[in-house]
Amino acid sequence: MLAILRQIAQEIDLAGDLTSALEVVTRCVRVAMQVHLCQIYLIDHKRQHYMLMAFDSNDILPEPSEWVALNEGLLGLVAEKMAPIAHLNLTAPHESNKLAFLGVPIVYHRQVLGVIAVEEVNHRIFSEDEEAFLVTLAAQLAGTVVHARDMGFILRAEATSLKASCLQGIPAVPGVAIGEAKIIYPLADLDAIPDRIITDIAAEINRFNAALHSARLDIVQLQQRVEPTLPKEEQVLFSAYLQVLNNAELHMGICEEIEKGQWAEGALRRVIKKHVLQFSGMTDPYLKERAEDILALGQRVLYHLQEKTGKPLHYPQKTILIGEKLTAADLADVPLGLLCGVVSYSGAGNSHVAILARALNVPTIMGAAGLAIVELEDKPVVVDGYHGCLYSNPSAKLLRKYTLWMQEEKELDKELQALRHLPSETSDGREVSLLLNAGLESDATLASTLAASGVGLFRTEISFMNKSQFPTETEQRNLYHTILRAFAPRPVTMRTLDIGGDKALPYLPMQEDNPFLGWRGIRFTLDHPDIFLMQLRAMLSASDGLNNLQIMLPMITSVEEVDEALQLLRRAYADVQEQGLKIAMPKVGVMLEVPAAIYQIADLAKRVDFFSVGSNDLAQYLLAVDRNNARVGDRFDALHPAVLRVLRDAVEKAHACHKPISLCGEIASDAVAAVLLLGLGFDQLSMNAGILLRIKWIIRTISYKQAQELVERILLLDDAVLIRTEVEKMLDGAGLGGLTRAGKK
Ligand code: PEP
Ligand code: MG
Repeated sequence: MLAILRQIAQEIDLAGDLTSALEVVTRCVRVAMQVHLCQIYLIDHKRQHYMLMAFDSNDILPEPSEWVALNEGLLGLVAEKMAPIAHLNLTAPHESNKLAFLGVPIVYHRQVLGVIAVEEVNHRIFSEDEEAFLVTLAAQLAGTVVHARDMGFILRAEATSLKASCLQGIPAVPGVAIGEAKIIYPLADLDAIPDRIITDIAAEINRFNAALHSARLDIVQLQQRVEPTLPKEEQVLFSAYLQVLNNAELHMGICEEIEKGQWAEGALRRVIKKHVLQFSGMTDPYLKERAEDILALGQRVLYHLQEKTGKPLHYPQKTILIGEKLTAADLADVPLGLLCGVVSYSGAGNSHVAILARALNVPTIMGAAGLAIVELEDKPVVVDGYHGCLYSNPSAKLLRKYTLWMQEEKELDKELQALRHLPSETSDGREVSLLLNAGLESDATLASTLAASGVGLFRTEISFMNKSQFPTETEQRNLYHTILRAFAPRPVTMRTLDIGGDKALPYLPMQEDNPFLGWRGIRFTLDHPDIFLMQLRAMLSASDGLNNLQIMLPMITSVEEVDEALQLLRRAYADVQEQGLKIAMPKVGVMLEVPAAIYQIADLAKRVDFFSVGSNDLAQYLLAVDRNNARVGDRFDALHPAVLRVLRDAVEKAHACHKPISLCGEIASDAVAAVLLLGLGFDQLSMNAGILLRIKWIIRTISYKQAQELVERILLLDDAVLIRTEVEKMLDGAGLGGLTRAGKK
């Protein structure tokens, strides 16, 4: 069965579209299980019934009905029970010949998408093995169906019905935005290409021919470039590539698809996938390998098709950026001032795209799959970042409601400006400094506009990420100096390079099975003293004459790492002193983001001056939930009782060693969590610019005693949802409810 499952999985993967994929499945299943009928139904929510998507029968049985009501018969039972149902009709079948039935639900994220069922006229009891086979297949199929739905390959009727309804995702950046959807498709990824209907067929064929021509030129140029060095026999490869690109059948197939009204990208996807499937099914190993070439060449043509259309040339005044897999670069591409909202179908609240969106103060929803992305193109949409809801084609009533809330939010922000120069102090005299999380050169401008007590986290890796090679020492020094000078005399905490995990450098590919448990942060820099020393020297020399630099080490797991880092810091310090610079040795701190570090605070405290909790990673490692994975995004909750108890331990331990402790993870920007952080006794909170005054409002409204009492009560609760509700109640009572939902009140 494993071989059959593998073969089916491969064929699903290569099928040009979902209908072909489902047809492949029904055919393979019918043959493999030796049944008379295999059928796949998917739920059409609009019409409240199952729609027959594919079937394969040996004609003994009548064709299955095109649709079946949701709660009808055995199909309804499978969906209702969310479990396989085997049924054997022992009495003589009066309506049809059906004797044996086995149905298995296609489930994704606890939701039934449809049912795969087999029927057999002969007396038959399906074995456990056969049931397990169908269950496995259904699980494989679920991902394909969801991807196809998100890409707009299927259930257009359903997608249309959802147009005016809410698509639920993970609330990542609070706030509300009304704007126009701009879809970003990943470049040169055939799988990400949706179907799209066009009317100007001649123009589309011209577009395709131009892209094909550019792809041919690429190959010819490559061929010429390698000609002097590559042996003759290897050069044949390029001729083979050109043969594929000149293949008349391929060309005709794509043009035929376009003539049916399909856009060039969709036509290319359909035909290339069909050819790949054909070739990969061949037994001759040479021909089998050609499948890879066809795919690669198809992607090259796609790249040229997308050169002009892949990235929007035009962004609307109020751009809501939507993509299956948005990257930080996609956000950065939008011209300043036009980006109003972000919706990513993958990723979660603590993905770095979400962090960047938060830094830009743009309402954001992550992991929002469930609506055909192509259906949203250029449509008016509303993003509710408080609840993680995306509304497409909103009604006039909904628009009025959200417009009012947006006005109220603007008013609130205006009113809060009055707090700018007031101390961040509770009514009973507890001061909690509010610092800025930054990472861009342009953040220097916030020094004068924002009343932050300094920078609590400067993510240096951001400037490494948008380059094509490691920045030079001088480039680094200049950037750090700009930030240090802008904020002086206020302290600026520069974090040493923290790459790895989901922060990859384009010029340093790292292939790891578990990147979040791998070569990250300090682990990388200690293994690269050359890069580390360069950065440390750049930081130190940048502080010349300013002396407001603090250095923070990420991903610390053990004291040896700190000892080694300090040794390198002393070396860098000696280097800059040799250059004649008179710089005070900066304070050094450690990020508490690996749980092990919390329980070594006393040992670490002998070596460093301060601590800062990186709650994004700390929660990720404590809860064993990938911060970047939308599938488990709802399980990532920094208000989980265990996280709060560990935070309490961290504060107690740091204070017992007389060391200050701050928190610079995203929860410092969450109004509900911020109350608890105040009550837990953090000395400083570091957050995004857009939220700082709101958090100051909380601190100036709630007394330290009140926050401490709340924490005492909260620490007895065993459930994150209860904790959030309890704190929200308290914020409401204090007149701060507007911080947790859209609007002012
Ligand atoms: C954290 O982990 O909380 C943190 C601030 O670091 P980053 O999000 O950059 O990993
Ligand atoms: Mg971190």
